[in-house]
Amino acid sequence: MTYLKLGKKQMFAGSSSAIQSKNMDESTSVSGDSNCKSISSNELAPPQSKVLHGKKSIVVPDSDIEGLLECPVCSNSMFPPIQQCPSGHTLCLSCKNKVNNKCPICRKEIGNIRCLALEKLAVSLHLPCAYHHLGCEEMFPYYSKLRHEAQCVYRPYACPHPGSECPFMGDMPALLSHLRESHKVDLQAGCTFNHRYVKQDPCSVDNVSWTLTLFNCFGHYFCLHFEAFLLGCEPVYMAFLRFIGEESEARRFGYCLEVGGNGRKLTWQGVPRSIRTHHRTVRDSNDGLIVQRRLALYFSGGDRKELKLRITGRIWREI
Ligand SMILES: [Zn+2]
Ligand SMILES: [Zn+2]
Ligand SMILES: [Zn+2]
Ligand SMILES: [Zn+2]
Repeated sequence: MTYLKLGKKQMFAGSSSAIQSKNMDESTSVSGDSNCKSISSNELAPPQSKVLHGKKSIVVPDSDIEGLLECPVCSNSMFPPIQQCPSGHTLCLSCKNKVNNKCPICRKEIGNIRCLALEKLAVSLHLPCAYHHLGCEEMFPYYSKLRHEAQCVYRPYACPHPGSECPFMGDMPALLSHLRESHKVDLQAGCTFNHRYVKQDPCSVDNVSWTLTLFNCFGHYFCLHFEAFLLGCEPVYMAFLRFIGEESEARRFGYCLEVGGNGRKLTWQGVPRSIRTHHRTVRDSNDGLIVQRRLALYFSGGDRKELKLRITGRIWREI
């Protein structure tokens, strides 16, 4: 086993690694190259030895090698076939078209040269998840890292507010303060609720609207959506609950909603959906309490000038 130090950052290589210095001794090894000092295995533990698969793996916790694999055009990680210009500058295949086959660095014409060496180097790399700073401690082979990151439970949440597309992304504490501060969303404690939705002129053409309320119960956060929209040609109101967390945890809860008036009522029992699922996806799958406008007005007392709906509900934890 050999540990190499490249520049400021440390690297760990298996004993059969091609990066070994030619002067290197198997056990203690000293390299003559001042930029490439080797350290004995007693002095330095491998950063994440448990994730090494096969002898040629290289674990790079935070290295400039990762920078070598970043496309200068799109700043994303490059994947095969990695392209290179006659001077050796590399970029993605799709970005080659974007820059009209002109190298963005030296302006030379890029032909059809593939950078196999870099592609092969990438195979041997293990890199930390991009959400390392949010708590994910896993390391991944270069080519499966993106697949993990798309599903990583530490990836930031998008803002669940149904208003105009909000660009906010953040972890849960940041998201909760964002909802309360930027969207002035009410936070209520407890697992039962009783809400009144009042809307003037509910039959006007432009009646797409929504309300969001936050609940804190069982040590988790939920948000209750109330939206008015056209379902086909039918104006409807819809209420549903979303869980602030992962889908797998959301399934551990249940909720019911009830709305009524004039001696009639509608009830809905469901499972909260994670905020990982867009509110429009939940709405379009009709996974909530839906009340047709005519019935909603009837519940309100029959006055077409004002909608007054009282929605009661309860959240519980499934066993
Ligand atoms: Zn690119
Ligand atoms: Zn170039
Ligand atoms: Zn991760
Ligand atoms: Zn937002």
